[in-house]
Amino acid sequence: MTDEWYMLSDEERLFCDVLGRLCAERIATKAAATDEASTFVHEQIAVLAEAGMLGANLPEAYGGSSISATALLRAVAIVAGACGSTASALTAHYLATDSILIGGTEAQKQKWLPKAATGEALGSFALTEPTAGSDPADMKTRARRTSAGWHVKGTKCFISNGGVADFILLYAVTDPEKGHRGISTFILPKGTPGLEAGAAERTMGLKGGHVFTLNIDCELPSDALLGEEGKGFRTAMQVLDNGRIEVAAQCLGMAETAMQAAIAYAKERVIGGQPLSDRQGIRWMIADMGLAYRSALLVAQDAARQRDLAHAGGGRFSLAASMAKLHASEAAGRIADIALQLHGGYGYTRDFPIERINRDLRIMRIYEGSSEIQRIIISGHMLN
Ligand SMILES: Cc1cc2nc3c(=O)[nH]c(=O)nc-3n(C[C@H](O)[C@H](O)[C@H](O)COP(=O)(O)OP(=O)(O)OC[C@H]3O[C@@H](n4cnc5c(N)ncnc54)[C@H](O)[C@@H]3O)c2cc1C
Repeated sequence: MTDEWYMLSDEERLFCDVLGRLCAERIATKAAATDEASTFVHEQIAVLAEAGMLGANLPEAYGGSSISATALLRAVAIVAGACGSTASALTAHYLATDSILIGGTEAQKQKWLPKAATGEALGSFALTEPTAGSDPADMKTRARRTSAGWHVKGTKCFISNGGVADFILLYAVTDPEKGHRGISTFILPKGTPGLEAGAAERTMGLKGGHVFTLNIDCELPSDALLGEEGKGFRTAMQVLDNGRIEVAAQCLGMAETAMQAAIAYAKERVIGGQPLSDRQGIRWMIADMGLAYRSALLVAQDAARQRDLAHAGGGRFSLAASMAKLHASEAAGRIADIALQLHGGYGYTRDFPIERINRDLRIMRIYEGSSEIQRIIISGHMLN
């Protein structure tokens, strides 16, 4: 096989190699037990902090690793290949820190990003509401100015890390007359009076990456407003451009693990005196997985390259990010399904990781903009 990551620098390669070893030894080994017990991935996040992953999306000036978006794609895939729950909690943290990086003042960046990069503070990104998921501009959470700052009231749901995070990036309406231009972002530190998280949702997969409903009825100081008033929706959309490539990375990592497990199983499993891998029908399944993986990888790498170029020049890369997310999430779903099929009945048991990977992957076609929403974004670009 050719080197699929030939474009990484020597330093980035070393970063990924060290990360790969840590993930194999200290994260992949816990994935099944974490899933069974539904315990939050605190220890795994601490391992990633040691590896420099909690700031891998940030510039060095704020304690980050300053790796390229392509290296970040590879790094997040490595984490997801070891444990989907850990990758999901990690990328939710990136949504929070990217919000500050994109929308925050210099003082807010200096206050929050260095401790987020070391793992001292875990972040969470609260956009979705019970009646505003696919259409977040229709959010109802309201922030009103007071003499002391802001009063924010509303409900957010499905918020990854929400109940365990040290800080939450909360999106709320500050001016209902202005539609999406009337949305602003606020930073809520853990323990803010009036911020209440319910119990973690009982989800199909990603059982170690907890999601929460947040009930908010809080008085906040003036400097809780992130950057400028009215810029929240734009910030959220820019954050999601990054986030969608990170979802693609999660999909690639889990798909790679599923595919490798299926190939190893096909070589070992002997049916009627012949290894499965000698059967033509099985080889076709392996070829289909390889093609789906490779094409999703190339589209995601293209999006990551565009992210690097856009960051250098200040542009956007929404179309490429949507395509990467849509393609990788759908390809990974197909790959994991074929990999399970190839395992036969054993693939349906919890004795093999393929069962968990199928469950962990399902949400990738829903969160950070469902497949339907990505198609709306892509066709919108094509029709304009
Ligand atoms: C495990 C998990 C983690 C999450 N983490 C976070 C997080 O950290 N932060 C956060 O803010 N949110 C988070 N979410 C929320 C997630 O982003 C939303 O669930 C998602 O955006 C879909 O919104 P919804 O659930 O309200 O579905 P709905 O918007 O109600 O959509 C229902 C269905 O209708 C389809 N649909 C909607 N509009 C259209 C349309 N115009 N045309 C065609 N089809 C359409 C959708 O694709 C979907 O299939 C998380 C969710 C889960 C389950």
